[in-house]
Amino acid sequence: MPSSQNASGDLAVKPEYLSSQPSGMAKPSEPNRNTKYDPRKVHITETPLTRSNWYKHVNWLNVTFIVGIPLFGCVLAWYTPLQLKTAIFAVTYYFATGLGITAGYHRLWAHTSYSATLPLRIFLAAVGGGAVEGSIRWWSRDHRAHHRYTDTDKDPYSVRKGLLYSHLGWMVMKQNPKRIGRTDISDLNEDPVVVLQHRHYIKVVVLMGLVFPTVVAGLGWGDWMGGYVYAGILRIFFVQQATFCVNSLAHWLGDQPFDDRNSPRDHVITALVTLGEGYHNFHHEFPSDYRNAIEWHQYDPTKWFIWTCKQIGLAYDLKQFRANEIEKGRVQQLQKKLDQKRSKLDWGVPLDQLPVMEWDDYVDQAKNGRALVAVAGVVHDVSNFIKDHPGGKAMISSGLGKDATAMFNGGVYMHSNAAHNLLSTMRVGVIRGGCEVEIWKRSQMEAKGEVIRDASGDRIVRAGLQPTKVVQNVATAGAA
Ligand SMILES: [Zn+2]
Ligand SMILES: [Zn+2]
Repeated sequence: MPSSQNASGDLAVKPEYLSSQPSGMAKPSEPNRNTKYDPRKVHITETPLTRSNWYKHVNWLNVTFIVGIPLFGCVLAWYTPLQLKTAIFAVTYYFATGLGITAGYHRLWAHTSYSATLPLRIFLAAVGGGAVEGSIRWWSRDHRAHHRYTDTDKDPYSVRKGLLYSHLGWMVMKQNPKRIGRTDISDLNEDPVVVLQHRHYIKVVVLMGLVFPTVVAGLGWGDWMGGYVYAGILRIFFVQQATFCVNSLAHWLGDQPFDDRNSPRDHVITALVTLGEGYHNFHHEFPSDYRNAIEWHQYDPTKWFIWTCKQIGLAYDLKQFRANEIEKGRVQQLQKKLDQKRSKLDWGVPLDQLPVMEWDDYVDQAKNGRALVAVAGVVHDVSNFIKDHPGGKAMISSGLGKDATAMFNGGVYMHSNAAHNLLSTMRVGVIRGGCEVEIWKRSQMEAKGEVIRDASGDRIVRAGLQPTKVVQNVATAGAA
C-alpha cells in the first residue's frame, strides 16, 4: 500500500473519515482539535492529479475501510457457512447500527430534531459507532455543512460532482479541509457522549463493529466465525452502503414536491434502503423535523423508532413543523410547476402588443375579404377557423366585420371558456374607442400591466377571465 501520508501529514495518525476533520471553526480550547493539521501548508488536493501523484490523492485508510475490508469479508464468507441464527442476528444488528446513524447521528445530533435521555444517547453512540462511518462529531459537522451549502463546492458530498462522488468518492479521495463549509458544532462539544465517542472512536469501532457481533454469535450459539464475518464485516459493508445512499441516491432519484432549486429528492426506494431517509426533499426543507416521511403510509422506521422511544420515556421534545407550513411549501412548488406548464402554452398575443385599429378600418378590411371578427374590442382573424367552427360556417360568417361581442357572449350562443381561449390565439388587433367601453378599459388595464402575473412575469389568464368574456352583456343582448 502506498504511503498514506499526504502533503500536510494529517493522515499520519487517523484518517479524515475516522477522525475529526480539522477545520477553521475549531476553537483553540477544543478537546478534539487535530494538532497535525497545518492550514499554511499546501494541501495535496491543491495540486493537480497526475499519473505520478494520483496515489497521494487517495485516502488509503478510507479505501481500506470501505473497499478493502468488505472484499476481505467476501473471501472469508466463501469459507464460512452462514447459520440461520447468525443471519437473523446480522440483519437485526444491521438495523440497530443503521438506526444509530439515522436516528442518532443524523436526526438527534446533526439536526437536534428531538432530545434523548442519557441511556438512549449512549445506545445510539455505541451502535452508530458500530456502523463505522466516523465519529458523531465528524459526521455531524460535515452533514451540517452539507445542509448549509447543499450542491455548492463547500458541500462535502455535493451530487453536482457526480453520483459516485457523492456516494463514496468524497471519502475515497482526499478532501481539502479548507474547502468544506464552516458550521457551528459547539452544542456537540458540550455533549459528553459525543466527546467521549470521538476521543475513543477507534476503540468504539473495533468493539461495536467487530468484537460485539462476534461475541454475541460466539457465546450465543457457538458461531464465532459467522458472527465475525456476517454480523461484523459484511454487515458493516451493507450498513455503510445503505446510509451512503442518503448522500447519493436521495439527491438523484425521485420527486421534488417542496422545492426544486436544489438536488434533494423524495423516493420510496431510497427510503427502503436508508431506513426512511428517502424523503430527502422534505428533509432539506424541514431539517429539524424528526420525521422524514410525513404520511402514515410512507416507510420511515427511523421516525417510528424515535416515536416509540418517546412513548417509553427515552426521547422527548420531538420537533415537528406545522402542517400549515409544510402545505405552503407544497402549494408553492405546485404553483411553480403550474407556471412552467402554462408558460409553454399559446395564450395569444398579449393585448398590449397588438396593433390598435380604427373601427372603420376594421370594417373596411372585413368587407375586402379578410375574415375579421371583433369581440369585446379585440379583433380576431378567423380565416383558418371558419370551416372548423362547431356552430357552422354561416353563423361565424354573420359576425364578420361587426361587433360580435353580444353574439359570442350569449346573444347567439354562450361560448365556452375553451372557445374564449381558442379565440384569443387568433387575436390580431384592438379597436380604438367605440365598441364596449368597459372592455376597452379592461384591455387598457391589461395593457398597463395591471394583470396577474406569475413569478416569471408571464400573465395568468384564469378560466372565464379572457377579455372577450363579457358576462354583463348577456342580459342586454337578450333585450336587444
Ligand atoms: Zn442531503
Ligand atoms: Zn440531514
